Amino acid sequence: MAMSITGDLLATTLSALAFIPCAIGSISQSPATPPQPRRRETVINGKRIKTIDVHAHCIVPAAAAIINHPLEAPALLMHDTSTRIAAMDAQGIDVEALSINPYWYRADRDSAAQLIKIQNETLVQFCAASPDRFVAFATAALQHPELAAEQVEYAVKTLGFRGVGVGGSVAGEELANPRFHPFWAKCEELGVLVFMHPLGTRELEPSGRLAGSGLLTNTIGNPLETTIALSHLIFEGTLDRFPGLKICAAHGGGFLPSYANRSDAVIRCFPDRVGPLPKKNPTSYLRDGQLYFDTIIFTPEALRHLIAETGPDRIMIGTDYPFPWTSTEVDLVLNTPGLTDDQRIAILGGTAARLLGIPT
Ligand SMILES: [Zn+2]
Repeated sequence: MAMSITGDLLATTLSALAFIPCAIGSISQSPATPPQPRRRETVINGKRIKTIDVHAHCIVPAAAAIINHPLEAPALLMHDTSTRIAAMDAQGIDVEALSINPYWYRADRDSAAQLIKIQNETLVQFCAASPDRFVAFATAALQHPELAAEQVEYAVKTLGFRGVGVGGSVAGEELANPRFHPFWAKCEELGVLVFMHPLGTRELEPSGRLAGSGLLTNTIGNPLETTIALSHLIFEGTLDRFPGLKICAAHGGGFLPSYANRSDAVIRCFPDRVGPLPKKNPTSYLRDGQLYFDTIIFTPEALRHLIAETGPDRIMIGTDYPFPWTSTEVDLVLNTPGLTDDQRIAILGGTAARLLGIPT
């Protein structure tokens, strides 16, 4: 239900929000049975909302073993999902859209083909084991763009995926490189949502500028890679060439939505340094339906600003599970000012459900 716009909008909206514990999950007092954590259920204006986390990681060990990729964190494993599902229940996450950070972008063609086949088929099994809790983004070997296009087609048409994950660069190459056009063309043709997750800015690391305290390779290196990738996709004309492409950028799109007006300004202020011109001002690409963003930006003020720059229909919640950046994304959306009930529902799961074909 859409709220009327009144001076009491925020108070009215917040008063309509509540949580109800799941009766099945009520705490047992029996000493023989450990207390069951209650599943947090999100209700907005009397309606139970299905919350969908578009930024959650996992790993397929049999695929990683093909190129001897080490396990980054045991909590990425999916052979026992009880801890993961307990975390989802505690955080009020109904569905995770699983993705795997691309670690295979330097693999040769044969290894990459074998790896992706095992990986995507195993992701299907993960989802089939808990179909009400997990969906997944397919994986693809972008370093072999024609192969990647075939992999996405097989993943969508045969395995049933509705999205595919990519890094923010491919072994040092920009996603805007024309080499990747066959991949983008296939994603556009199939109508899949592309989840873009950065892999850091590895080209900066040998300089030592991201070394030292603060985990800067990740803290700023990850959003910086996303910022660079999105900027090239805009300025190199990739988004113009594939107008039906839909990309969800991790971590709120990195730094770009906070400073996108500078990208508009360079066209005015240094016109001889831009060209061919993108069809629209760069800020328009943030709003016009090709780019989406997750909510991993920590505060209601940051989310309010991201929404001001992109629109409430462009945002989907993300947790980064199992990495402990945040566990409060549902509250973040509920506490962000100025949103209608319908907008909160869209951010919490409605938009992801529509893009990923998840029944609500
Ligand atoms: Zn992540």
